[in-house]
Amino acid sequence: MALTIEKFSFGVGDRFAHQGKAQLAAIMKAAEQGVEIVPVWNKSNREHQTIGSEVGSCRAAADAAVRDLGWHKSHYVDADHINLKIVDPFLDSSDFYTIDVADAIGSPADEAAVSAFIDSVPELVGTLTISGISEPLVMSRESIAVTAGKYLKAVQLAGEIYRYIVSKIGAGNFVTEVSMDETDSPQTPPELLVILAAIAKEGIPIQTIAPKFTGRFNKGVDYVGDVAQFEKEFEDDLAVISYAVERYRLPANLKLSVHSGSDKFSIYGPIRRALEKTGAGLHIKTAGTTWLEELIGLAEAGGSGLGLAKEVYSQAFANSDALCQPYATVIDIDPEKLPSPDEVNRWSSEQFVNALRHDPNHPEFNASFRQLLHVGYKIAAKLGDRYLQMLDECEASISRNVTENLYERHLKPLFLD
Ligand SMILES: [Zn+2]
Repeated sequence: MALTIEKFSFGVGDRFAHQGKAQLAAIMKAAEQGVEIVPVWNKSNREHQTIGSEVGSCRAAADAAVRDLGWHKSHYVDADHINLKIVDPFLDSSDFYTIDVADAIGSPADEAAVSAFIDSVPELVGTLTISGISEPLVMSRESIAVTAGKYLKAVQLAGEIYRYIVSKIGAGNFVTEVSMDETDSPQTPPELLVILAAIAKEGIPIQTIAPKFTGRFNKGVDYVGDVAQFEKEFEDDLAVISYAVERYRLPANLKLSVHSGSDKFSIYGPIRRALEKTGAGLHIKTAGTTWLEELIGLAEAGGSGLGLAKEVYSQAFANSDALCQPYATVIDIDPEKLPSPDEVNRWSSEQFVNALRHDPNHPEFNASFRQLLHVGYKIAAKLGDRYLQMLDECEASISRNVTENLYERHLKPLFLD
């Protein structure tokens, strides 16, 4: 039987591979409340490169956490945002592949392939009523040609990558996600439908799909955009998915994957309502939120823990251009709002924690400070053993914050409230 991911799955990133147990503890707390969510440890090639970690270390840490806490349900390790060039090192240890084809979006597809595709989907031409969407979708051969022209090449590439992974580890042994989130413009529900039809015809058994949603998904801070518009598009996407599952015989558990960039609190309510209304499943990825809780735990511990957290900030401040550059499109740091390292060095534990912890209503919360530290994990990686040893020394305060953050601020509003 093919590996089939459960209805609710939660992507956790663990940059320094020290928080697996604390993360799993949050998921187990949700299980105690009656909600079954399975953990997926995701780490991208970019994160591995920035930190200098071995790809296999993610699997080792995940398996150790699962063993230590006696977790008997599934867990997965996600080769996050892979393509043909970087997938090889992941093949030994991953059972979830996020095939990223965003770069191929917009590269023109072969004209004959586009018209063959249009001929194969006559049901999409005209007025299409989809249950769950108030306005029927209206598409013409021309509009489908535009969408197919933009996305068909990307879907073909996804097929190529999928078949390559199959050739290495065998069909049915992994969960396939296709991601199109790291691109300029969001995909509308009609575009998503065309993309799903193309994916089905390409023979990719996708279980999760990550479109780009409307609005800004900056790293580590809340959603910026029109929440009502997001809610409508999210619900329309769910309706499109259940239509496509039936019509094109995609895997029955196909669900949306939200690459949240962590902490999109204001859309959690709309997402939960939509899931309740439709019975749909969800995969949601977070990553950097846990690394920031490590810093919070260090600061909360005081003494040399706080000292090291301040050192990370000073160095991040000094290197901010280089740190921000790879993340330029997904951060909005106001340099004026960044405190000087001198000022931060005078802060108490409480001041550091209040500025960093993601409580947008706290008067001392500083979103620019938080975003700079979010992208500053390279600094901690450079500290090497000094950083890792301090994680061990301050383990109690760190794991408390990691668990509480995931449970209270993420899992509860998404699945329990
Ligand atoms: Zn992503």
